[in-house]
Amino acid sequence: MLSLVAPPTLGRTPLPAEGGGAGAVLRAVLAGGPLTRSAVGRATELSPAAVSRHTADLSALGLLRELPPEDGPPRAGRPQLPLDIDTRHHLAAGVHIGVPWLTFGLLDLRGRVVAHERLPRRGDAADVLRTVRAHLPGFVGRRAAGRSLLGLGVVTGGWVDSERGTVVQHGPLGWRDVPVRELLKGVTRLPVHLESHARALARAELLFGAGRGATELVELFVGNVVDAAIATGGTVLRGRRSRAGDIGHLPVPGSTEPCSCGRTGCLEATVAQDTVARRAHARGLIPAPEFDLLLRLAAGGDTEALGLLKERLTLTAPAAALLIDVLNPEVLVVSEAGLTAVPSLVGHLREQVLRHTRAEPTQLVTAASFGMEVLAVAACAGVLDSAYQRPMELRTARAG
Ligand SMILES: [Zn+2]
Repeated sequence: MLSLVAPPTLGRTPLPAEGGGAGAVLRAVLAGGPLTRSAVGRATELSPAAVSRHTADLSALGLLRELPPEDGPPRAGRPQLPLDIDTRHHLAAGVHIGVPWLTFGLLDLRGRVVAHERLPRRGDAADVLRTVRAHLPGFVGRRAAGRSLLGLGVVTGGWVDSERGTVVQHGPLGWRDVPVRELLKGVTRLPVHLESHARALARAELLFGAGRGATELVELFVGNVVDAAIATGGTVLRGRRSRAGDIGHLPVPGSTEPCSCGRTGCLEATVAQDTVARRAHARGLIPAPEFDLLLRLAAGGDTEALGLLKERLTLTAPAAALLIDVLNPEVLVVSEAGLTAVPSLVGHLREQVLRHTRAEPTQLVTAASFGMEVLAVAACAGVLDSAYQRPMELRTARAG
């Protein structure tokens, strides 16, 4: 049974491939900390001298700190004070651009949400980016409490080319070739990390969530956009032109839902939250076709509302099973708002996924780790991932 398996164990050796020794030390402390220097050495296979050198560098950057000694009788010899992530100095800022909302977030280095705010998403790409430019400085000024920002993350669904800094295509928003990074440059004087929602969530799950300690993870995002992200060897794949994971247009047998791609019956069109909300409204369950209303009804135990959310998971399950069969990950995370509103639905998801796959019992199928804060976490994940992969390249600027 997939559901009986514990998450991957912590403390597996972090990959030293990226960011050299400093990145490995920082990731080891994130995964298993607080850790003594000798435990960091064991986790990273670095020499005591190298651990000391990287620890000094990371402490000087305000990323790592020695915890103060515990009270008690003095012991002989030089005590080994444990190292922990220093969350006092830096924050990541981010904005998630969704169909109904713009979500602004600030996260500390442990991935904890320090602040989030949301505004209705209105107008075209130019209007949205104008709103971001106007709101962000005030949000940071009010909520960052003087801590410095490591960067600005910008996350949205659909096809996002991170290298070029462009949203290539976002069907539900109607965006095509929007040069987001260029248009937001200068807002904060910070590096802008543009990423697709699914890839950002995959990074967050690997650093702070269900994928902590794992290297093989698949993230399946089901919102108004349906998208997957694949991590292998601890690295999130982008594919040519950042298009890996575009599974939203798999056909769903029997579906006649028209899709923004011009065909009918695509997975994305069939299970999009707007589609499900319309279905609920047409059946008279909710007074307006708004997905939040359906979630609230289901969370209150309404059988018909729960039935619609279950149906959404049933329709999604074959795609989840296909990802398991093709990629054989340690962890498959399904990020879907119904699972957040009614956590017990994860049982239905697992049951449906199992009908379509020959998954092994060691594989974990689970819901997203970040609850109602998932959009704020996704927004900032690229900035934090970059800090953990390449800590010595950080540039920071004072907030506010
Ligand atoms: Zn389609």
